[in-house]
Amino acid sequence: MAMIQRKRADVYVWVDVPPGINTYSHSRYSYADDGTVMESVGSARTLTAGGVVGFAGLLVSRLQNMFTDVARIVSPQPNIFVVCIFGLRTVFGDDDNDPYQLRPADILDTDLLCYIRMSRALTLASTDELARAAFPGAAGFTIPRPTGVLSEAWFTESGGSPEGVANTIFHELMHNKTRFAHGENAIWVHGPQGGGGLAAAVNPGPLAAFTLANKRAMASRLSVRNKQFTDALR
Ligand SMILES: [Zn+2]
Repeated sequence: MAMIQRKRADVYVWVDVPPGINTYSHSRYSYADDGTVMESVGSARTLTAGGVVGFAGLLVSRLQNMFTDVARIVSPQPNIFVVCIFGLRTVFGDDDNDPYQLRPADILDTDLLCYIRMSRALTLASTDELARAAFPGAAGFTIPRPTGVLSEAWFTESGGSPEGVANTIFHELMHNKTRFAHGENAIWVHGPQGGGGLAAAVNPGPLAAFTLANKRAMASRLSVRNKQFTDALR
């Protein structure tokens, strides 16, 4: 059996929605260079069976496209690799398609980690943290904890579609790249520095624009070092 050279991931997304989930919103979206999003199947939502693995596949493909767009405007172009994990196990494999096991130490300070939780009610955050970091109507939140930055996206509040959840994750991962060590306020994301579109709204939804300025904002912060909150990975 040939040895598989594992790709080292840079963006980790823990898909922690209940394994029993077998429905999610499924539409077709197209993304123009100027950030405009078109929903081309109309407003009808088809509930698609396939469970959490099917959802994870659509999610990781959207997020990979988003981060590839970011990488394209960086020179030299980095290879940003997105993986879905369930605890410390990847949902998919690399070339061999066999899931594999991670160690918390694999997630570096320059990497990004976002937990997907079913809803705000099932957050890892304390009531106090939510009050400080999650705006009313938000679809996720990010807060620096003493042991690492915790980012969460909420499946239900994001509209239950892979595209909606991907937009929430990108939004939260912009907050995650706040220069906390220099006292920067994470709210920069919502202002001009965040680049509008999915950064400006606390709950972007599936149709929020993914603007060139969003990509530039993330690109300019790829080297920011923030330890990720890995304590809940097991
Ligand atoms: Zn925000």
